[in-house]
Amino acid sequence: MSGGGATGGGAGGLPVAPRDDLALVEGYHSPQVDVEVRLNTNEAPLPPPAGFVEALADEVKRIAFNRYPDRSARDLRAALAELHGVKAEQIFAANGSNEVIQCLLLAFGGPGRSAAVFEPTYLLHTHIAKITGTQVHTGRRADDLSLDLAEFDRVNSAHRPAVTFICSPNNPTGRSESREVIEAVVGRAAGLVVVDEAYGQFARWSALPLVSDDGRVVVVRTFSKTWSMAANRLGYVVAPAGVVSVLEEVALPYHLDSVKQAAGRVALRFRAEMEARIAGVVEERGRIAARLSELDVQTWPSDANFILFRPLHQGPKEVWSGLVERSVLVRDCSGWPGLEGCLRVTVGTPEENGRFLSALTEVLA
Ligand code: PMP
Repeated sequence: MSGGGATGGGAGGLPVAPRDDLALVEGYHSPQVDVEVRLNTNEAPLPPPAGFVEALADEVKRIAFNRYPDRSARDLRAALAELHGVKAEQIFAANGSNEVIQCLLLAFGGPGRSAAVFEPTYLLHTHIAKITGTQVHTGRRADDLSLDLAEFDRVNSAHRPAVTFICSPNNPTGRSESREVIEAVVGRAAGLVVVDEAYGQFARWSALPLVSDDGRVVVVRTFSKTWSMAANRLGYVVAPAGVVSVLEEVALPYHLDSVKQAAGRVALRFRAEMEARIAGVVEERGRIAARLSELDVQTWPSDANFILFRPLHQGPKEVWSGLVERSVLVRDCSGWPGLEGCLRVTVGTPEENGRFLSALTEVLA
């Protein structure tokens, strides 16, 4: 039995029923299959540079583990502020950009408020919104999977959402929006515009220059992709200082541990190495795209470290399994709204990409 009351026992022998609205929320998981080539979760293909691990070990030795961490992560924020040429008061960091998004929704969404998303897009925007009790209004992208401004206007004027999510480059389609489109959204949006740039470093432009203290743009970034630190769970937002102060209020005290703060600072010392790696991924992305264009699949242009493709004459599940049989794992996106028949491959090392391309060629033959 479920129900609005907090007492009386829940389904499955729970001592109390969970919130009714959680039933609307499905988890977001990519099956982890034991394969040699994992190209399903858009991580960096290489571990951080060796010097990073040594430098971090030195920092870790100096941490006072019996003390709570610096609650406002001053040094990390100062380093990120320097990286982006903004004020430290405009940076808020959390445990992965997912937690940043959760804090944004705790602060600006919640019961009685809504968020807008434009599908197909990153499913966690909807998922986290629902978990925080924020109503979600869903618009559709255009047929070429770009953001349709007329559709944005429709959703924005009908619902006046407190938060509008624009994922650019968009996961899982790979497209980034032009500056003109984002500026148009910002000029008309009813509330905060969250530009999720988890893949921003792979794109040709960034919305970061649109952030200002008197504006409505916030840009979310992560260390999970470019910085080879998915295991570390560190993300941040560049936002108006007033927005950052509110985020600090909804985050739990000492949410960012000392090791993570140190890891973020140390990573930023390896900017040149990371930029070289980004260039390598972009080059490999071009190689994969070129080969896909010769195969029996539809593809879309990508500004990210992954490519969406749709086999034209075979089912996505069949192709996904054929790849797994050849020890290559990609993401099956065919169940996502608007992505019937689609799979997504992350750009890996040149060797991994070669394995993927020859496995796919075989499966499609
Ligand atoms: N935003 C987008 C668009 C993503 O694809 C991801 C990772 N899949 C995230 C945010 C979350 O990244 P993390 O929590 O690892 O920083």
